[in-house]
Amino acid sequence: MAELFYDDDADLSIIQGRKVAVLGYGSQGHAHALSLRDSGVDVRVGLPEGSRSRVKAEEQGLRVVTPAEAAAEADVIMILVPDPVQSQVYEESVKDHLKDGDALFFGHGFNIRFGFIKPPANVDVCMVAPKGPGHLVRRQFEEGRGVPCIVAVEQDATGKGFELALSYAKGIGGTRAGVIKTTFTEETETDLFGEQAVLCGGASALVKAGFETLVEAGYQPEIAYFECLHELKLIVDLMYEGGLSKMRWSVSETAEWGDYVTGPRVITDATKAEMKKVLGEIQDGSFAKRWMAEYQAGLPKYNEYKNADAEHLLETTGKELRKLMSWVNEDE
Ligand code: NAD
Ligand code: MG
Ligand code: MG
Ligand code: MG
Ligand code: MG
Repeated sequence: MAELFYDDDADLSIIQGRKVAVLGYGSQGHAHALSLRDSGVDVRVGLPEGSRSRVKAEEQGLRVVTPAEAAAEADVIMILVPDPVQSQVYEESVKDHLKDGDALFFGHGFNIRFGFIKPPANVDVCMVAPKGPGHLVRRQFEEGRGVPCIVAVEQDATGKGFELALSYAKGIGGTRAGVIKTTFTEETETDLFGEQAVLCGGASALVKAGFETLVEAGYQPEIAYFECLHELKLIVDLMYEGGLSKMRWSVSETAEWGDYVTGPRVITDATKAEMKKVLGEIQDGSFAKRWMAEYQAGLPKYNEYKNADAEHLLETTGKELRKLMSWVNEDE
C-alpha cells in the first residue's frame, strides 16, 4: 500500500527559507505561485517578455521576471511550462543558473524520465504533482482544503530532497488532503498510460465507435449522441463518487446486467493485449521519442488528427445539441 503524508509530517519553514521560482503561469503555475505566496514563501514567476500570462500574474500581486532571471535568483526552480518545451527552457534559461544544493522541481516526470533534461549531479530533482487541474488546486487551497499530491525525488544531492518536496506540497495545500510518495518513473509511465489507454484515447474511441455503430444502423445522430456521449458524464460522476458499485447501484438492473454481459465483449482480451503493447512503448521510450519528433516537426500529424475529428458527425451533432442545454457552458 502507498505511504501517505499529511500536514503534521511536513515542515513549512523549509520552503519558507528558500527562494522559489515558478516558471510558467498556466493551469498549474498560477496555482503553485499564488498558494506558495499565501503560505509565506518568497516566490517569483518566470515568463518571457511579451508572454500574455505576465499581466495576469502581476495583477495578482506576483513579481514577474524572465525565466533566466527567476532561475538565477532562486534556489528552488519549479518548471511548469508545457512538457514539450521544458527541455528548451531548461537549456536556455535554467541550466547555467544551477548552483550546488539548488533544487529542480517538476509537476510531471516526462522530461526527466525520458532524458530530455539531464540535470547536474549537485542539485536535488523533485516532483510535486497535484492530482487535479490547477484551478481546483488553487480553489481548494483558498477554501482551506487541498488536492492530494504525489511527490517524488529522482536525485537527492542534499539528502534532504524529500523533506523539501513535502514542505513545498504543504505550501500548496497538498498535505491537507494527503501526499503519496511515488517515483518519476511510476508517475510518468502511469500518467501517459492512463491518458492514452483509458481517459482520453480509450474513452473517445469508445464513444466514437458506439456513436458510429448506431448511426450506421440508421438511428438519428442526435439520439446516438445522447446515448453514447452526453450520458457518459452521469456515469463517470457516479464512478467518481462511489466507484463501479455506486454507478451500478444507481442505474437500472437491466443496465447493470448489460454492463456484466456486454462490457467484456467490447473490451476484450485483444484490447488488453493491445494495452500491454501501448504500455511497452511508453516504458521503452518509443512513444516519447515519436511525440517529441512530431512536436519538433511542427505537429503535422497532430493537426491532421485534430482536424479530422473536429469534422466528425459526433462533433457537429453535439455542437448543435448543446445549444438546447442552457446549463452546459461552452467556451469557444
Ligand atoms: P499550461 O499550458 O496551462 O501553462 C503553461 C505556461 O507556460 C503558460 O503560462 C505559458 O505562457 C508558459 N510558457 C509557455 N512557453 C514558455 C516558455 N518558453 N518559457 C516560459 N514560459 C512558457 O501548462 P500546465 O497544464 O500547467 O502544465 C505544466 C506542467 O504541469 C506540465 O509538466 C504538466 O504535465 C503538469 N501537470 C499539469 C496538470 C494540469 O491539470 N494541467 C496536472 C498535473 C501536472
Ligand atoms: Mg539559482
Ligand atoms: Mg495524470
Ligand atoms: Mg499527462
Ligand atoms: Mg439509457
